Parts: sequence; structure tokens; C-alpha cells
Amino acid sequence: MARNLQAEINLAAIRHNYQLAKSQAKMAKAVAIIKADAYGHGAVQVAKSLSGIADAFGVAAIEEALELREAGIKEPILLLEGFFETEELKLIIQHRLWSAIHSLEQIDRLEAFLDSHPAEGLCLWLKVDSGMHRLGVNPADFNQAWSRLKARREVAELVVMSHFACADEPERPDTYKQIETMSRCLEGIDAKVSLSNSAGVMHWPQAHHDWLRPGIMLYGASPFDDGHALEASQQPAMTLTTQVIAIRDVPAGDAVGYGASFVCDVPMRIGTLAVGYADGYSRHAPAGTPVVVNGQRTRIVGRVSMDMITIDLTNRADVQVGDSVELWGEQLSINEVAKYCSTIPYTLLSGLTRRVKRIYK
Ligand code: PLP
Repeated sequence: MARNLQAEINLAAIRHNYQLAKSQAKMAKAVAIIKADAYGHGAVQVAKSLSGIADAFGVAAIEEALELREAGIKEPILLLEGFFETEELKLIIQHRLWSAIHSLEQIDRLEAFLDSHPAEGLCLWLKVDSGMHRLGVNPADFNQAWSRLKARREVAELVVMSHFACADEPERPDTYKQIETMSRCLEGIDAKVSLSNSAGVMHWPQAHHDWLRPGIMLYGASPFDDGHALEASQQPAMTLTTQVIAIRDVPAGDAVGYGASFVCDVPMRIGTLAVGYADGYSRHAPAGTPVVVNGQRTRIVGRVSMDMITIDLTNRADVQVGDSVELWGEQLSINEVAKYCSTIPYTLLSGLTRRVKRIYK
């Protein structure tokens, strides 16, 4: 029996979730964020399945963009962090990539480059630091940045973007402040604007503007820890399954797994599954984290090891070696699993390693 750990990717669900994002703002376009190998779903496959549907794709690094171009993806591709080395500008021009510009220093380098290299039709996204303090020009420098980029004849399109720090926590005032800061920057300027990540798309209609940037919601997961009404309309894109590879009876008082941290209080039937932290399953999944076997939930017992986990199969005579077990997906929400692991679905999805076979349907 081959080790049967697989992530089944439902590409139709991703297309559905993309349309769901767009349906929140009828006039807006949407950059499908497929950085980090489309959050573990496979960037090339996801881009191909959204090709002709998505208005643009968003990635973090030029290598990711070039992989998509090599695979024949023709849509615009936005580099969300812009260029790191000035040399990258050659590839940006050659491959017609869109680039964020997030500092005056980048504008200096861009101007110097354009003074000595021919270019035309550039599409740049001027990123403003509206309060997250990670990337973006200071709002006090916005007018300077805007006019310098506008003055370049090589720049055909200039979009203004910013990123939210707390849009997934609607009760906090931070997002209102960021929206206000952006309104001040945009006064008197005729620009296309992009502010909304998934949380913005799902919860902040006043921030929708011209371009949405949904990431996690495309994959049927939610940025909200405490749930959101729109989640009911999302479809999970990945179902992670493995198999039961061994079953044993363990007497009361004996412990299971590393550190002997889980002690059976009654005689227990323990199943061993082929998945561990080297596959990207979180080592922080505590005893009690749910899994689904034969349509019914049970729980992890003992610590997550590198290649295996152990589950409680007491009173589960229906379960045999070889049975399939869902770790998250159609029957068990990844948001729930993430909560057990004290993390977010982003880390679980993007942390899956190469050992996990991706199967597309
Ligand atoms: N826009 C930018 C600039 C990002 O960095 C990201 C992801 O971190 C996104 C959009 C998508 O965010 P989310 O996955 O929360 O929708």
C-alpha cells in the first residue's frame, strides 16, 4: 500500500469562490491572489482554471510570476511587493508584469532605470502605508510619489493600493482609520483604487473601490476567526485525506505517542494515520483536534509526529486499516482545525509540503 496522503483540489470551487468575491462588488475587478503556490493549491493549476475568468493574478515574487508565464498564463500578473532588485525591471517589462511600487527609494531606482531603458505600457500599483506600517509610501509623500510616476510617459496605468491590518476584526477602529487616510490621499486625484483583501471583500463594502484582492476566500477558507455570514456561500477548495495504517488496543494507564503525554483513562482502540508535521500538518494540533472517519468525527490523541498522528477509534468497530480519513475539507472546515491548532487557515494551507500529492478535480 503506497502512502496515501492527498490534497484533492476542487478547481470548480475556486472558480465559484472567485465569482462570489466579485459578486460582492459588481463594478469592481479582482486580482486573484495566488502567491505561495496559490496558498498550497498549485499556482499553475489554479491560474489555468481561472484563466479567462480572473481579471488578473497576484503573486509575491517575480519567480512566481515567471512560473505562470512559462505555463502559458497570459492574464496580467501583479507583483504585490514590487521589485527587489532593479534588474527585475527588465523581466517586468519583457513579461508585461504589473508591479507594486511601495517606496520613494523604489521610485528613484525606477526613474534611473527608465532613463536608460526603453519601455512602454507599464502598469504600476502605488502602494500607500495607510496604517499597517509594513510596506507603502508614507501618506505625507503620496502626492510626490503619484506625480513622479504620473510624469513618466512609460507608465500607462497607475493604480493606488493599500493593505488592511485588521479588516478581519470588524469591531476594531483600525480599518476605519486606514480608509480615512486613503480618502485624504485620494482627494482631487482621479485614480483606480485597490484596498480589499478577502476580509475587505467580505465585510467592508466602503473599501471595495475598483480592484479587489481576494486570497484566502478563493480557497473556501475564511479570514474571520469568529465566522462571517458569507462563509455559508463559500465552497472548500481542498480536502486533505490520508489513511489508517495501523490499529491497536491500548490498556488503561498506558500512554500514546512522543512524550507519553496522552494517557488512556480507559482501554482504548488507537488508529495511526499517515500524516505528520513533515507533511505540513500542524505539530500544534492538540489532543482533541477533530478528524473525520467514515463520515463521523473522532479526535487526535497524543502528539503529532513527523510522519504520523494517532486517533481515538474506541467504539469505532466500523473503522479498518486502509480506511480514508479527512483531516480538513468538505466535511471538516479548515478554519475549525486552524482554531484547534491556535493558528490560521493560511499557515495550514501554505505549509503543506511536497510530500502531499495534489489531485485535481
Ligand atoms: N493583497 C495583498 C497585498 C496581500 O499581501 C494579500 C495576502 O496577504 C492579499 C491581498 C490577500 O489577502 P487574503 O488572503 O487575506 O485575502
